[in-house]
Amino acid sequence: MPPSAVTVVAGDATARYGFASGHPFGTDRQEHFLRELSAQGLAGAVRVVAPRMASDGELALFHTPAYVDFVQRRSVRGDGFLDGGDTPAFKGVFEAAGAVVGATLVAVQALMSGAARRAFVPIAGLHHAARAGAAGFCVFNDCGVAVESLRREHGLRRIAYVDIDAHHGDGVFYAFEEDGDLVFADIHEDGRDLFPGTGAREESGRGAAAGTKLNLPLAPGAGDEEFLSAWAEVEAHLERFPSEFILFQCGADSLAGDPITHLRYSEAAHAHAAKRLCAIADAQGHGRVLGMGGGGYNRRNLARAWTAVVRTFLDGESATIHG
Ligand SMILES: [Zn+2]
Repeated sequence: MPPSAVTVVAGDATARYGFASGHPFGTDRQEHFLRELSAQGLAGAVRVVAPRMASDGELALFHTPAYVDFVQRRSVRGDGFLDGGDTPAFKGVFEAAGAVVGATLVAVQALMSGAARRAFVPIAGLHHAARAGAAGFCVFNDCGVAVESLRREHGLRRIAYVDIDAHHGDGVFYAFEEDGDLVFADIHEDGRDLFPGTGAREESGRGAAAGTKLNLPLAPGAGDEEFLSAWAEVEAHLERFPSEFILFQCGADSLAGDPITHLRYSEAAHAHAAKRLCAIADAQGHGRVLGMGGGGYNRRNLARAWTAVVRTFLDGESATIHG
């Protein structure tokens, strides 16, 4: 694979997405990742592309126009919260959140045009935002916008969304709960112990979509071994429902040592998932895998887990945790 086959979308506009005053989702996260990518000698092997702002029309592919207006107004005032108390407004939050969506759409475009074979966007995968509201540090749901864009602007039908962040991807799950063409698989810390409280195994899709969603909650303290057992079910699910594009939310807050969750994976879990998703995407004939950084509040963990994903995208032979 030529070096330019992996695109990373990152720049000043996405670095501005983050919250002040010691909030775990600070604006320094992207920089920690980029420094690790350089330190491991991979910065020159990927094509780094700048993000762009999403248009109002693109935001409205997923979000209600009323909610887009609400964020725009709060962004001018810059005070208060966009939800019940987890996601503060700040001056410029509309532009910063719009750049996250734009960054993911740049990655979508790179994959759909054939300019890239895999893509990674560190500040992305904001999986808690709903169509009409912010939640859990997430203002706009770039994953949801990507799904709608792939369908309406690129003509795809069945898309897979795989999420290994410690938190359940509720914003994606409930937006597509009755949509059988969104194949969903999510391994997360049990909702009885962690925000947002959802994602029980029984939640498997509704109506015509019944069975297309796979939720695999793990007990607090679960490590690589428990992850690998659950991961086998994810692979079987993706093989049962072949797709035309794989969205991969690889939140690093599932690694041991995260300050706000209780899972204990190593970054080898992220590398394993990335490697297997690339193999599945190739076997299903399209090869398109878009990695989105998601959560992760221990800076060393996010830098290492996301770099492990990019390394795997570059090199299909990357180490896995199988014996
Ligand atoms: Zn998370």
